[in-house]
Amino acid sequence: MPNEKPEKPANFIRNIITEDLKHGKNDGRVHTRFPPEPNGYLHIGHAKAICLNFGIAEEFGGKCNLRFDDTNPTKEEEEYVRSIIEDVHWLGFDWEDRLFYASDYFEKMYEYAEQLIKKGKAFVCDLNAEEVRQYRGTLTEPGKESPYRNRSVEENLDLFRRMRAGEFPDGTRTLRAKIDMSHPNLNMRDPVMYRILHANHHRTGDKWCIYPMYDWAHGLEDSIEGITHSLCTLEFEDHRPLYDWFLEQLDVHHPQQIEFARLNLSYTIMSKRKLLELVRDGYVDGWDDPRMPTISGLRRRGYTPESIRYFSDLIGVAKRDSVVDIAMLEYCIREDLNKNAPRRMAVLKPLKVVITNYPEGKEEDLDAINNPEDASAGTRKVPFSRVLYIEQDDFREDPPKKFFRLAPGREVRLRYAYFIKCVDVVKDENTGEIKELHCTYDPATRGGDAPDGRKVKATLHWVSAMHAVDAEVRLYDRLFSVPDPGADKEKDYKEFINPNSLEILENCKLEPSLSNAKVSENYQFERLGYFCVDSKYSSAEKLVFNRTVSLKDTWAKIKKAMAEEARKKKK
Ligand code: ATP
Ligand code: MG
Repeated sequence: MPNEKPEKPANFIRNIITEDLKHGKNDGRVHTRFPPEPNGYLHIGHAKAICLNFGIAEEFGGKCNLRFDDTNPTKEEEEYVRSIIEDVHWLGFDWEDRLFYASDYFEKMYEYAEQLIKKGKAFVCDLNAEEVRQYRGTLTEPGKESPYRNRSVEENLDLFRRMRAGEFPDGTRTLRAKIDMSHPNLNMRDPVMYRILHANHHRTGDKWCIYPMYDWAHGLEDSIEGITHSLCTLEFEDHRPLYDWFLEQLDVHHPQQIEFARLNLSYTIMSKRKLLELVRDGYVDGWDDPRMPTISGLRRRGYTPESIRYFSDLIGVAKRDSVVDIAMLEYCIREDLNKNAPRRMAVLKPLKVVITNYPEGKEEDLDAINNPEDASAGTRKVPFSRVLYIEQDDFREDPPKKFFRLAPGREVRLRYAYFIKCVDVVKDENTGEIKELHCTYDPATRGGDAPDGRKVKATLHWVSAMHAVDAEVRLYDRLFSVPDPGADKEKDYKEFINPNSLEILENCKLEPSLSNAKVSENYQFERLGYFCVDSKYSSAEKLVFNRTVSLKDTWAKIKKAMAEEARKKKK
């Protein structure tokens, strides 16, 4: 990842704000907010909204609030609140003392609702939910006015106060805005502002039995906090007239709502309802399962905050929905880790190698480079001895044509060590399974080069058996086996769960310097990918590593192919 900050590309939101500042709107203030509903863990889509809101504020010398939009009393909200706070901080953003809860504004919202009633702009309606739906009409037919629409201000006030006092059962009455039942925008057809719900709220307890609807609440929350630009996703575009209508009826600060496209990622679902289902029904190992697109899952997988912020800059903001290739997210973490992750050697599927001409009991420390991309990372010592492990995949008894790694009679290089040559293959008498290889080494090739200039076609990683640290390593594949698991509405997205998304290797051998690897450190295991200690299952007794991503960079390939394509077109 570029260490120098990339020039942020222009986008329509920045353009709007720049114009506003030029014209002195909002007295030159820029104030945004990130308003999650605490009903699930944050995912990579939210990360885009977080980077956008906090990023814009930072860029224009403004402020960004973290606001819990907790207007729906639901269960377990505290856990979600905690995780959201942790995730936004981890991404690298800070709201100082501006952590707010929409529920703190319930009293104020209630007062504003009474103001609307007094102005004749809201009424208490006795239709039930089903009737309200029937009266609403359709896109092609106007709606019908509620028979309760013309109640007097006094009656409305009295009923609304009694709604609040808990005199009526759930669903029997609502407070509705009095706008226009034949408005072409269905959201403007006397929308419900309050519903009766005798439910316990995670912060206000049993104080309230009426709860404000999103459209009524959200604009007021923005207004109360002095938000200047209220950035939200495209599905709220049709709600903007209502957002504006409510604020126009009251004598209050009026923020500007601006919509941008949601992030969709291939091979991923982003709906909180579906993510919750995966967790609740045990398809994954919790919200932070390393295969989940949640921020906590990406963190456990080994993604860095920098890589996610870089991704968010790369995808930019647009006015039209699209699907981003997940390979691009993987590209971002590879870019970061290629620059910053120390290299280590680890063998995931070990095959024993005995160097028959290496003295028994001898050990030596060889120098290994920590990061070829970063000279300041220096070198470390890696122990070498008579018995080693290499990858099973790096040996073929009967090598096919393009296989250049170890085979009987063939010489290869052991990285940072010596040339070795395979002289014998030892098999289990009964099963015929290869048990170990016998090799000889050339002492003159110490460090990995032959003084006589002879060449080998492969360099293998290895670990000294007597020094090796045991570990479990978990390899991940995409959670879904199709690019858009939600596309076919006839089918359940769970049918497309990839049955092979997790592979657990229990008998891995690591170079000894990894014995004190810590959670949140990233490593490249040479030739295998980037890895990190698993925060959930790793312990003093048992080291567990996750593979963040393999080394193969499909996105870089795609980009190269696209560049080539463009070059061809130009010609
Ligand atoms: P719900 O279905 O529960 O409404 P939500 O994903 O919209 O889910 P919120 O907690 O309301 O969840 O989202 C908080 C903020 O994050 C909102 O401003 C929303 O627009 C933004 N956001 C949510 N999903 C995405 C996404 N995929 N891409 C960009 N922004 C998103
Ligand atoms: Mg939402």
